[in-house]
Amino acid sequence: PLVNSAAARDIANTLHPYTDLKLHQEVGPMVISRGEGVRVWDENGKGYIESVAGLWCAALGFSNERLVQAATNQMRKLPFYHAFTAKSHEPMIDLAEMLIQRAPVPMSKAFFANSGSEANDTAIKMVWYFNNAVGRPKKKKIIGRIKGYHGITLAAASLTGLPANHRSFDVPLPGFLHTMAPHYYHAGLPGESEEEFATRCADELEKLILAEDPDTVAAMWAEPIMGAGGVILPPKGYFEKIQAVLRKYDVLLVADEVICGFWRTGNYWGSTTLNVQPDILTCAKALSSSFLPISAVLVNERVFQGLADESHKIGTFGHGYTYSGHPVPAAVAVETLKIYDETRIGDHVGDVGPYMQAELRRRFANHPLVGEVRGVGLIGAVELVADKATHKNFDPAHKVGARLVKLTEANGVIGRALPGDALAFSPPLIITRAEIDEMLDAVGKSLDELAVQLRR
Ligand code: PLP
Repeated sequence: PLVNSAAARDIANTLHPYTDLKLHQEVGPMVISRGEGVRVWDENGKGYIESVAGLWCAALGFSNERLVQAATNQMRKLPFYHAFTAKSHEPMIDLAEMLIQRAPVPMSKAFFANSGSEANDTAIKMVWYFNNAVGRPKKKKIIGRIKGYHGITLAAASLTGLPANHRSFDVPLPGFLHTMAPHYYHAGLPGESEEEFATRCADELEKLILAEDPDTVAAMWAEPIMGAGGVILPPKGYFEKIQAVLRKYDVLLVADEVICGFWRTGNYWGSTTLNVQPDILTCAKALSSSFLPISAVLVNERVFQGLADESHKIGTFGHGYTYSGHPVPAAVAVETLKIYDETRIGDHVGDVGPYMQAELRRRFANHPLVGEVRGVGLIGAVELVADKATHKNFDPAHKVGARLVKLTEANGVIGRALPGDALAFSPPLIITRAEIDEMLDAVGKSLDELAVQLRR
């Protein structure tokens, strides 16, 4: 009977992203068959709270009738049209207007793509195009950060600062550089204050720019809070100091809001929470509550004018996807943004976000396996360490984070372990205090079970 099971057919035919492909041939998939609210159910009928909203993205959870209706209505009216050669349609027009109105700093125009990676690739090409337009064709290098995550297409993977996204893939491509991650818990020096650490991060950035020659450095990318790299919150004052360096050398700042956007950090944008004033902003995921794929790049007036001048010289802005601004995901995104406004989801996050943060600390900060509990709003992480005094991590070969996730799954919570054995929390924004309690009860039980396994 196993031969035709979904798991067997998956093993036989599917090559999974972010999976140990060899191990998968033995272990097989977890097949998820339905969702409702903050929960999903597997094919055997076991239910789970999704503590990371899938991939930090299903902001309104795993069911929403208004989004179903928005997609259905749009499919009936106009299931596809494109945006090339000045064609347009209402869902894209509405969405661009809504994003420009809601941007954290004055922005001029919105461009649409289908994923966070494509949005970042687009923004990289825009930076290059812009610098050609303003007569500085040598100013092309792009700075990302170690542990930053910006996607997996060739340019976005080059920006990303995580070894698993580089190794064996022959990236980063030339011209992509990485500066240090602002993680005080691990990188702060003995006796160094958070403020001194933030100054050192900015000094490191300046040194890198000077070493490379400022006339060759075009832009820096930053997630307001690093997500996939470990939910890393920069120390107070970090972005102010970083931005002072960037302004000094006329290096553009691109805020990657793919995770932080749309109330995740307690404000509409992570840029507001962390005091980031980007020239370009990329977003995706919660833009459509992930019901359909769509992403956006917002550019300010200065960048837009450069793009406009150059495209006028060439005769076209030679970039775009067949599905740029696709009407169905655009309609779903418009409805998503309306739902955020009409249900005052920001007020809800203002209640449950601080509650989740307080509970994470109250329950886990003193646990024998836990080094640091961090986060703000509805994004957080609990990092496991081998030595609480020295902050030393476990040997990655022991896969402690992955073992914890196995235990949380058995206890009814789908979790996500990040590099460095940090358990991430990024539940759907609609989660209630009672659901947070249920989620953290299961995580606490799992941590205790792991401590027994590790005899700690
Ligand atoms: N940027 C950030 C901050 C992300 O977290 C991600 C995905 O997790 C991406 C970009 C890439 O987005 P996508 O997977 O949609 O290409």
